[in-house]
Parts: sequence; structure tokens; C-alpha cells
Amino acid sequence: MTNQNIESIPFARPSLGQEEEEAVLKVLRSGWLTTGKEAQAFEDEFIRYTGAAHALAVNSATAGLHLILEALGVKEGDKVLTSSYTFTATAEVIRYCGGDPVFVDLAPGSMNMDPKDCEKKIKKLLDEGQNVKGILPVHIAGNPEGLEELFALSRRYGLFLVEDAAHCFPVPSKKGMIGTWTDAGVYSFYANKTITTGEGGMIVFQDPQLKERISAMRLHGIDKSVWDRYTSLKAPWEYDVIAPGFKYNLNDIAATIGRVQLRKAKELLNKRKALVQAYRTRLKDADFLDLPTWKEDHAWHLFIISLRLDKLNIDRNQFMNILRDRGIGTSVHYKPLHMMTYYRERYKLKEEDLPLATGLYHRVISLPLFPDMTMDQLERVCQVILETGESHRSKAEMESVK
Ligand SMILES: *Cc1c(COP(=O)(O)O)cnc(C)c1O
Repeated sequence: MTNQNIESIPFARPSLGQEEEEAVLKVLRSGWLTTGKEAQAFEDEFIRYTGAAHALAVNSATAGLHLILEALGVKEGDKVLTSSYTFTATAEVIRYCGGDPVFVDLAPGSMNMDPKDCEKKIKKLLDEGQNVKGILPVHIAGNPEGLEELFALSRRYGLFLVEDAAHCFPVPSKKGMIGTWTDAGVYSFYANKTITTGEGGMIVFQDPQLKERISAMRLHGIDKSVWDRYTSLKAPWEYDVIAPGFKYNLNDIAATIGRVQLRKAKELLNKRKALVQAYRTRLKDADFLDLPTWKEDHAWHLFIISLRLDKLNIDRNQFMNILRDRGIGTSVHYKPLHMMTYYRERYKLKEEDLPLATGLYHRVISLPLFPDMTMDQLERVCQVILETGESHRSKAEMESVK
């Protein structure tokens, strides 16, 4: 069915240009490819840009989340509250440390975890005598709603709050940039994120004591601060190993791309915002779907629509297949983790245990959204969506329209 004459529209595409190309060439020609001056400069510039106390660059957000949980002392059997409605990286890092994710349902009308359900689950775990360590929320699509309430909860119960801010850069708030004013935040620079280094991430955090541990564990558990301190006394090749660490450092080729992308971050965000506004205007009369509410303080990493299945005679997957056949790339964010084999079996979870996350999953479609998307492309996506909705009205709907 695919119309070969029409150029297909990807779901996402990184926005890279001459500046990134030149920066990479410079690094390639410098003779220094691994973590070095570029990664250091990227961290310094990131601190200046975000106002964070500390920033450490890593080779993925997943690595960053693992490092911060390790440094905060998450151990075997510890409980960390997180959303079921997220990518598996958010929860798998808790398992890396031997801890258990405790899945919280969504707040009504939101794609983020519910502070009320979170508190209910904290109380229950404490009553059972469990070791509750922290809260790990995710700002789905780049919307940090609910963070203030969750942070207040974390203080009330003496828990850490670490943000999976993979979708949420750069977003200002009253207290400062999202990610910077809780215990820690981790951003992702994966290829489809709001700024990219191909693969990469950044951990920002408050407590200076975490810096030594994270820096060491990021690179094989080599204690560089000790090495630095004694470097004048010891041979330059000498170093100490304090733990079996990881290989999570960001290389200079990636870091130099990140430095350019950081300078463009605001411009890239503004392009996303213009596209989101256009989507909202163009789709506002489509009664068979719910649109995300406009928010200025939002990273707009994703534009997620929710179908009103009562008004349609096709389901979400069928709707997506029609878009695919007409050359439009889409995705689903997310199939909740309590519906995934590993988590479902290990924690004996049922779909009904998290009814809002389960319900939303069946309705969502993420539409194409990337800074270099043209208004013509957006117009075509909207036309196909409107046509598909009109030609697939449910029987009940047809009756009521008559
Ligand atoms: C992309 C993503 C991650 C992982 O980021 P990587 O940099 O690919 O490790 C984690 N959480 C969420 C919600 C994501 O979308």
C-alpha cells in the first residue's frame, strides 16, 4: 500500500550540521579520542548552562542512573519507587544494584507517576518493614509535572529523589533547571533525544561527596582524586583501584558534538515548540483523540496523542499501521513495565495492578517530532490522521452523528 511517490516521514531525526562536523574533524585530527579536554569542557559548559552544582559526563543515561544509584548506596533488597510508564532503563538500573523497583501508577490525566499512589505505596512498604531508599520519577515527553509533590514526599520520608530526566532538557522551573534541584538528575543524549552525542548522558547532582565515588566508578573504580593528590610524589603511570568499577566514560568525539548541541539547545527547543503549536492547532477539532496540553516549561521531546477508542472502529495498532502504510513513522511511549515479561513475572504483577498506565498504553501514539521537520511534513501527518479518524468512526459514533 505504501505510496512510493511520497517521501516517508521519519518518527525522529537528529539535527546536526556543519558545526558538529567540524568539531568532530578537529577531535579526530587531534590524536586524542577518549575522555579528555572535550569531555571536561562539556561538563564545565553544562554546569554553566544549567546552574547545576556538579556535572559528570557518561556514555549513556542508563550508565548515569546506575552510577548515581550506586553512589547513593542502593543495595540488595532496597526498594525504589518508580513509574511503570517508562522505558526499561529507568527500572533496570535499580536491579543492577540489587534493589527492587516498586511501580507507581499514573496520576489521573497525566503520563507521570502519581504522588498520591506513591505515598500510599511508601507507607505500605514501611509498614511491612521494607528498606525504602528513594523515588525515581520520569518526566514523560519532557513534562516535569508532579515533581514538586514527589520531592516534598521524598523529604517527608527521608528518601532520595533522583530524576530520570532523559526527556527533559532544557526545562526551566521556579527552583532552577529541571534535574538540578533534587538530589540528582540524569539527562540522555541518545540519538533521538532533545540534544544528542550519538550515545551519551550527563549526571547532575548536589552533594560534593558523591563526586569522588561517581568519578571513580565511571572509570574502572580508579581513584583519580587520590592519584591527583599524590601525583607529584608518585610515578605518573601509577593509580589505585578502590572497587570493581564500570566503563562508563564519555569519549571526546561524542563530547565535542555535545558542546555544539548544547549551544543550539534553545534554538532546537524553539523549533520543537513551533511544531507542537502547529500540531495542536491543526488537530484541535479531531474529537477522536486527546492532545497533550500546551506547556511552555516542557522539553517537547515527544508529541503523544491518545486515541478515544470509543469513537473509532479500529484500535491503536491498526491506526498506527495505516500511518505506516502512508509513509509516516510513529512509536508507542510506553508499553508499561508491569506488562513486560521480566517485571511481570519477577514481581507477580497484573495489568489491573496499575490500571491507569495499562489503560493509557492502549491509546497512545507518538507522532513525528524533530527540529528539522517541515511544516509541509507536519501538514501531511495531520491530514492522514484526520482522514483516518473520519473514515474509521465507530458504529455508535455514526448513529449519534446521524
Ligand atoms: C532514552 C531513555 C533512557 C536511556 O537513555 P540512554 O542514554 O539511551 O541510556 C532512560 N530513560 C528514558 C525515559 C529514556 O527515554
